[in-house]
Amino acid sequence: MKSRQQKAQFASVLGIFANLILAVIKGIAGVVGNSKALVADAFHSASDVVSSIAVLVGIRAAQKPPDPEHPYGHGKAENIATLIVSILLVVVGVEILLDAVSSLFSPEPSETSAIALYVIIFSIIVKEALFQYKKRLGDKINSPAIVADAWHHRSDAISSVIALAGIGLTMLGSRYDLPFLQYFDPLAGAIIAVLVMWMGFKIGKDAVSVTLETVLDDGRTEKFGLTTEKVEGVKRIDLLNARTHGSYVIIDVKISVDPHITVDEGHSIAARVKEKLIEEHTEVHDVYVHVNPYH
Ligand SMILES: [Zn+2]
Repeated sequence: MKSRQQKAQFASVLGIFANLILAVIKGIAGVVGNSKALVADAFHSASDVVSSIAVLVGIRAAQKPPDPEHPYGHGKAENIATLIVSILLVVVGVEILLDAVSSLFSPEPSETSAIALYVIIFSIIVKEALFQYKKRLGDKINSPAIVADAWHHRSDAISSVIALAGIGLTMLGSRYDLPFLQYFDPLAGAIIAVLVMWMGFKIGKDAVSVTLETVLDDGRTEKFGLTTEKVEGVKRIDLLNARTHGSYVIIDVKISVDPHITVDEGHSIAARVKEKLIEEHTEVHDVYVHVNPYH
C-alpha cells in the first residue's frame, strides 16, 4: 500500500509528464497544421509544466529548516517561485495574443489541416481523464491541493475545447468556401492567450497577498480558538491572531490561567496549547503563547 504522500507525488508527476507530452505534440501539430489556436494551447500546456515544476522546487525549498539568517524558515520560497511563474505566464500570454491578433488582420485567412483537429481532440480526452483521476484521488485522500489540481485539468480541457471550436470552424470554412469562418482559429488562439494571462494574474495576486503576511480573518481563526479553549487550564483567550507565512500558518495567542498556579504549571499549559494547535491543524507551523493571570 502506497502512502498518502507517495500517491500525491505520483499524481503531480503524472500531470507534469502529460502536460509536457501535450505541449510538444500540440506545438508540432500547431505549426505543421497551421493552427494559431493549437499553438496557443501548446503554450498553455508548456506554462503549466513550468509552473508545476516551480511549485515543486518551491515546496522543496520551503521545507528547509530555519537557519540563523531565516529564523522563520523558508516558507516564502514557494510564493516567490509562484510569482516568477505568474510573470512568465503574463508575458507568454501577451506574445501569443499579439501573434493571434496579427493573423486576424491578415488578408489571407488561415487554412488549418486535419492533424490539428485530431491532436486537439486527443488533448481534450487526456485532460478530462486527468481531471477524473485527480478529482477522485483528491477526494479519497482528502487533499485540497490535488482537488485544485484536478480543476486546473478541467479548465485546461475547456481551453482545448475553445481551440477545437476554432479549428473546426476554420476547417469547415475552407471546405465549404466560407472565408469568414477561417478567422475563428486565430480568434480561439487570442481567447486562449487571454486565459493564460488571466491565470498568471490570478496566481500572481495570490502569491503577493501571501508574501505580504496576510492576517487571517475571524472565520478562519475560529477553529484555532476552539482548540485552544479545550486545553485544560485555559480560563480565557485574551487574543488570538493567525498569519500566513508562505503556505503555513503562525499563531500568536494570549491566554489567561489561574493566577495562583506555579510558573512551571503555567508554562506547561502554554506548551500544551502549542502542541494541540500544531497537532490538530496541519497548516499550523508555529505558535507563540503569552500567559496572563486570570482575574
Ligand atoms: Zn493550465
